[in-house]
Amino acid sequence: MLTSTIDKLKDSGTLSKDELCHILTNFDRKTLDYTNRQAREVSQKTFGNKIYIRGLIELTNYCQNDCYYCGIRHSNPVVERYRLTKESILECCREGYKLGFRTFVMQGGEDPYFSDDCIADIVSCIREEFPNCAITLSLGEKSEKAYRLFFKSGANRYLLRHETYNRLHYKQLHPKAMSFDNRIKCLNILKNIGYQTGTGIMVGVPFQTIDNLVDDIKFIENLRPEMIGIGPFLASKDTPFAKKNNGSLDMTLMLLSIFRLMHPKALIPSTTALATLSPEGRQRGIMAGANVVMPNLSPTEQRRKYSLYNNKAALGAESAEGLLSLKNLLKEIGYEISLEIGDFQR
Ligand code: SAH
Repeated sequence: MLTSTIDKLKDSGTLSKDELCHILTNFDRKTLDYTNRQAREVSQKTFGNKIYIRGLIELTNYCQNDCYYCGIRHSNPVVERYRLTKESILECCREGYKLGFRTFVMQGGEDPYFSDDCIADIVSCIREEFPNCAITLSLGEKSEKAYRLFFKSGANRYLLRHETYNRLHYKQLHPKAMSFDNRIKCLNILKNIGYQTGTGIMVGVPFQTIDNLVDDIKFIENLRPEMIGIGPFLASKDTPFAKKNNGSLDMTLMLLSIFRLMHPKALIPSTTALATLSPEGRQRGIMAGANVVMPNLSPTEQRRKYSLYNNKAALGAESAEGLLSLKNLLKEIGYEISLEIGDFQR
């Protein structure tokens, strides 16, 4: 019964809200396996058995925001704060380049210390030294002027998860100072400027309902982002959500596959959060239709400080030095690393 709805999704690339709600409410192990398999087929049709890699550089764990779920929120007094220097960021890129990375993802808290000009300068320097690489930013909400400046300086891609498309839910996850409307506005600006734009959600974040998830799927269907980031919520100590339950592996994998079936060409990572939730998370994500992994390229001594959640996986196959173990892990499931730049292809 459910599998015929999955077939319909695969054939038509879409489902009604009611159908989505029905699947998310009622799926069992068999349906999950079936959906993962269909999604994997679609992914392989677009990308073959190639997995793109992106080197993740965590610029700063200072943040002016106070998202209730996030371990590096402003009000967390326990975090040991750090910022990378421009030189050390460039060193990370050089190291990454030698290892074969052709995309650098700069992620960080919203840290006013890194002014717009400062970010633009860093982007320009990376662009100049690595003309054949993609530069992805994930630095939160900025002004349109700033987004344009970064783009002009050589950034190609921007990741900004909308987190939830439900206003009330957004308020339950963020303090008053943050605005749902601005988040969505930023995403539209990024798309208009010409960034390959990524958005997404945490699965199982507190107060999330199935209806919320359906609205997220529909929002993403309309936005048509080039990248879709989806991972489980993981409780982070010393945050208001410290005692909440982690998101579910099965629900994350189900949603990942639904996104793949709806967006055959999208770049969908098997996220670090998924790898942290379960020892097989990384592989399971790929087997559910993901086609990207983002190993950590940050300097090793800073990595543990960028703790969005507890026990973040950052070693072995999660790290840039661990490319060999990632390679082996992928080989076991019939995949291999692609060293291509891996831009979104229309
Ligand atoms: N400051 C940037 C980067 C945030 S970190 C921004 O706002 O976009 C990137 C993503 O990590 C967030 O968008 C969020 O979805 C995810 N994240 C944060 N805390 C998390 C947690 N406790 N568990 C799982 N994912 C989390």
